[in-house]
Amino acid sequence: MGEDLEQLKQRLPLLDYLRQQNWTGRPAGQGPEFVGLCPLHRETRPSFYVNARKNLFYCHGCGQGGDLIRFVELSQHLSFRPSLTYLEQQSALADPAAVLRQASAFYQQQLDRYPEAQRYLEQRGLHDPALIRELQIGYAPGGNLRRHLLAQGYSLGLLKRTGLVNPQGHDALFQRVVFPCCRDSHIVNLYGRSINTAFTHRFLPGSKGDLVAWESVRQFPTVILVEGMFDLAVLWQAGFRHATCSLGTHLTSDQFRQLCDRPRTVYLTFDVDANGSGQQAAQGLAHRLRAQGITTRRVLLPPGHDPNSFFVQGGDAPQFHSFLEAAQL
Ligand SMILES: [Zn+2]
Repeated sequence: MGEDLEQLKQRLPLLDYLRQQNWTGRPAGQGPEFVGLCPLHRETRPSFYVNARKNLFYCHGCGQGGDLIRFVELSQHLSFRPSLTYLEQQSALADPAAVLRQASAFYQQQLDRYPEAQRYLEQRGLHDPALIRELQIGYAPGGNLRRHLLAQGYSLGLLKRTGLVNPQGHDALFQRVVFPCCRDSHIVNLYGRSINTAFTHRFLPGSKGDLVAWESVRQFPTVILVEGMFDLAVLWQAGFRHATCSLGTHLTSDQFRQLCDRPRTVYLTFDVDANGSGQQAAQGLAHRLRAQGITTRRVLLPPGHDPNSFFVQGGDAPQFHSFLEAAQL
């Protein structure tokens, strides 16, 4: 209990909480103190002090003081336990992970309501509704997320900090198919694939997270690495459940470590594009992986293809299997 309380107070610092409640304070001198009008009694000259380092407040006007819990007891007229419950709710509303989860859930609900999104998934060869749910694919039509999240009690400031809403106050993702990006199974980002041609790929600010679905893929002694979410989706649909995705040809250091977390064979299946950049990236990565004791194979698809376009244009599982078998060291 005592420890939970400390964690709660760290998660939701008193000053942040007060600012969420629209309290404005100015620095009182050089230290960690802020001063403003007291929210607990009527006054015209500021006498309410908050020490951000100690996480405590004191009012010279009404003589009240204490920590965050005490402040909630006084301002909400609640006893101790209900104050804690109230603060747990408030802290969830200040949690970027929670708001990303809500946004992802909202976008998943939108998917069925917009025929253009359905059409796009079909164009990309994705037709298994169970798989679409499993991959938590959603659709951001644009223009309705902000209202939804504000109604749930999230602050506009938080929506802007996570990048869900841009600095101008509009939904950042607009006409995009949305995939959640996870770390340790928690959503840390959203990837939006435009259903139009403009600005094809977009992430919110911050990390792109783990290799996709790594929790389930890591158990396989052999994995297929692809660069795009739609590559992964069609491979899973065709039964290649040991495929994972790095969301681009550049792996983060965390993603690289994940591939190396045990001896395994990695089939690098990057695009075979005209300028050779996919294959160049695959070669560089293969080199670095081998230095870590990982066996690598480079899968060569027909020129101009990635796994997604291969399946969309009629390729099937046995054919793809033959590419794996023909893959070069
Ligand atoms: Zn006061």
